[in-house]
Amino acid sequence: MDVQTAKLQVLAYSKKAYKEKLMAGTSGNLSVCIPEKHCFVITPSSVDYNEMQAEDLVLLDFSGHVLEGHYPPSSEWRLHAGIYRNIPRVAAVVHTHSPYATACAAAHYTIPPVLIEMIPYVGGSVEVAPYAPPGSEEIVQTVLPILKTKNACLLANHGVVAVGEDLQAAYINSVYTEDAAKIVLLALAAGLQPQSIPEFSEHEEDRNNEK
Ligand code: 13P
Ligand code: ZN
Repeated sequence: MDVQTAKLQVLAYSKKAYKEKLMAGTSGNLSVCIPEKHCFVITPSSVDYNEMQAEDLVLLDFSGHVLEGHYPPSSEWRLHAGIYRNIPRVAAVVHTHSPYATACAAAHYTIPPVLIEMIPYVGGSVEVAPYAPPGSEEIVQTVLPILKTKNACLLANHGVVAVGEDLQAAYINSVYTEDAAKIVLLALAAGLQPQSIPEFSEHEEDRNNEK
């Protein structure tokens, strides 16, 4: 993929995610990897999604050196770079603070695998990576064990990280994570007990019951 195509993709999905209310204010960040050039395109830090233009996106190498761009990169560039360096199947990352999933993250609550989409897309339950300060290298170490086998996880007290082989896939994984969290919380709010899909249930139920 060429850099300009990657910039246009990141721009389009950033605006879409903002419009769909997956992010509030300037929170969240998205990126696309260009592995053959050892670099990735990421959203700039703290720029209004409505105002964002293709030329505002930042091209970085995996050590965080700015190759193109006039704004500082997202403060979470280490998270994105760390995922690309360690998980070769991933070529796009979507980080959101989508409200229902972030409610689960605030409660350190693993979203159980209650919806059929969660199995093929996310890979089952959405687990919570232990808390690490935003923007830190430490965050990378907390998410890698989960994202090695799944396409989304929660960041404790923070938000969601979804990954995919391309931006369309990473984006849909972030949407299904939010959808699952919303449905589980609706069931819980109604006094109901959400049930995991049977063949994925035992291990997952134990996970929240342990807390
Ligand atoms: P940036 O605007 O620097 O990308 O930060 C948003 C965010 O979600 C931090 O975790
Ligand atoms: Zn964040």
